[in-house]
Amino acid sequence: MMEKLPVPTEKIRVFGDPVLKQQSREVENFDHDLENLTARMLQIMDRAEGIGLAAPQIGIQRKIIVWRNPETEEEYALVNPRVVERSEETVTASEGCLSLPGHSMEVERAERVVVEAADLRGRPLTIEASGLLARILQHEIDHLEGRLILDRTSAEERKRVLKEMREQLES
Ligand code: ZN
Repeated sequence: MMEKLPVPTEKIRVFGDPVLKQQSREVENFDHDLENLTARMLQIMDRAEGIGLAAPQIGIQRKIIVWRNPETEEEYALVNPRVVERSEETVTASEGCLSLPGHSMEVERAERVVVEAADLRGRPLTIEASGLLARILQHEIDHLEGRLILDRTSAEERKRVLKEMREQLES
C-alpha cells in the first residue's frame, strides 16, 4: 500500500529502452512522493526543452504526465489520465518526442479530446482540449500505454525514420 515511488533518473529513456513499450500502472497514493516526482518531471522536461513528458520516459511505469501550455507557458501535471472521448475529425501534423531525439514524423490525431484524470491531490478533473493541446495529451497518454509516435505514423514514415536511426548509429 505505502509502496514508495521509484526515484527518477535524470536521463530521458530513448527508443529501444523496453520501459517505453510497457503499460504503466495507476497511481494510488497521492502523497508527497508524487508531488516530488512531478516536480522532477517538470524540471527534466524543461531542461530538455520539451512540451510534454510521461513518467515511463524517465523509467517510471506510473500513469503520470506533465506538459506546458504552449501559449501561456503554464505547466501542469495529470495523474491517471485517460481519453474518454475523441472527435471523429482528425488532423495530421508533424510530431516529435524526447524519446526519439532528432526525428519527427507525421501523426494523425483526433482534433478534440476529453480527458479524465486526477490532480496531485487525487481530485477528479475533466479537460476538454483541441488543437495542439489535444495532440500533446494524446501523445503523452500513449506513452502510458507503451505506444510511441512510431506506432502511430504511416508505414512509409516509420520506414524512413528507422532508416535515419540506423544511419545515425553507423556514422
Ligand atoms: Zn513522447
